[in-house]
This record gives sequence, C-alpha cells and structure tokens, in this order.
Amino acid sequence: MAASYCEIAKDHPVHGPFHDQEHGFPTRDDAELFERLCLEINQAGLSWLTVLKKREAFQKAYRGFDIDRVARFGSRDIARLMKDAGIIRNRRKIEAAIENARRLQALCKTHGSFAAWLDAQGEQVLEDWIQIFRKTFVFTGKEIVNEFLVGTGHLPGAHDEDCPIYMLVLKEKPPWSR
Ligand SMILES: [Zn+2]
Repeated sequence: MAASYCEIAKDHPVHGPFHDQEHGFPTRDDAELFERLCLEINQAGLSWLTVLKKREAFQKAYRGFDIDRVARFGSRDIARLMKDAGIIRNRRKIEAAIENARRLQALCKTHGSFAAWLDAQGEQVLEDWIQIFRKTFVFTGKEIVNEFLVGTGHLPGAHDEDCPIYMLVLKEKPPWSR
C-alpha cells in the first residue's frame, strides 16, 4: 500500500507544516479557499511538493488570491505571470485562475461568499460535487475537485485516524463531520 499523506508529511520540512496546520482543516476565508482551488489546479501534472515550494511566489503573483483583484487581471497580468519563474507558468492554468475568480465574484453576489456557496451545496458525494464544480468552474476535473474538498474539510479522508492531527481537525467541526 502506498504511504498516506500523513506518513509522507511526518517530519517533512515542506509537507509537515501544511499537513499539521492546514490540510483538512475547514476555513471560511474566501481568499484561502480560492488559493487552495488555484493551487490544486496548478498541481495538475505536477507534484504537491512543487506547488507548496512555490506557494509564497504564488501568493505574491496572484495578489494574495484576492478574488476581486484576480478577477480584474488582464493581458498585462497574464504576461507578468508568464514571466514569473517563481510560479507555474502555464497559460491555461493562469487563465483558469482568472476565469474562476470571475465566476466566484458572481457566486459571491448570489450567496455572499465562496464559503457560503460551498455550504449551500449541502452534503454531497464526490461524484455529485464533480458535476457541481464542472458546471460552475473551469479546469476542475475529478482529482482537483477531490483534493480541494478533502483539503478544505468538505470531504473526509484528509488524515489517517491514528494521525495526531485527525482529532485536531475534528475539533474544528469540518463540514464532512457535521
Ligand atoms: Zn495526518
């Protein structure tokens, strides 16, 4: 059996802090949710380690993942991002971030926030979440949707039950545990 993320992250300089402080914990911060969606999209075809190592550069390049700011990105921003060696320079991924920010702006108008929109979907199994994301966002295939929802506490499975972080996550009452 392949090692679980809990095992991979143990004592790892990059995975460790993410695993201990963020992975699976629920968040209601829209910039954080948008960041996590963008990072999952950027991971496609690459490793999560690669993405985590570039995280600081990503945050800078994408203006703190402020949805309104990214939604306003134009051709000059795309050119800037394509030249930024700190991030993953993939035009489709960059354009997906901008398009998804625009779609999120629309959702924020109707639901108040990204977090509230996620809540409004209620309890869904992965297959249904995939359909919901497919009709709502771009560049959100099965793997990306699954990783995003597990990572933000909307689906279970972020931690092994014997992982010390498992109980800490439960205390935060992630949506999947309600
Ligand atoms: Zn764990």
